[in-house]
Amino acid sequence: MQGVVGVCEREAKKQGFKRVESITLSVGAVSGIVPECLREFFPIAAKGTVAEGARLLTRTLPAEIDCPDCGYSGEIHGAECPRCGGWAFRLRQGREFYIDSLEVE
Ligand SMILES: [Zn+2]
Repeated sequence: MQGVVGVCEREAKKQGFKRVESITLSVGAVSGIVPECLREFFPIAAKGTVAEGARLLTRTLPAEIDCPDCGYSGEIHGAECPRCGGWAFRLRQGREFYIDSLEVE
């Protein structure tokens, strides 16, 4: 969260805005980051910065895999390939955590 606020501060300096209205974060489903926790801690981390009072929006990116065993490519909701039950897959998406967009004043 500190990192997100840090990016806001850097962008504020670079682009010359005074206040962030809203921040949209992309959070991978298996990134280990819980959006509820972010929303809880964000006001604390943002206090006294350009991001203070900003709305925090989160977009969840589903976990997606490429399975080398059966060729399945797509979303998973468990820990194994939904087509063949294999474990040898490569995670294509789902561990991300980044700032999608900043709305500024
Ligand atoms: Zn498979």
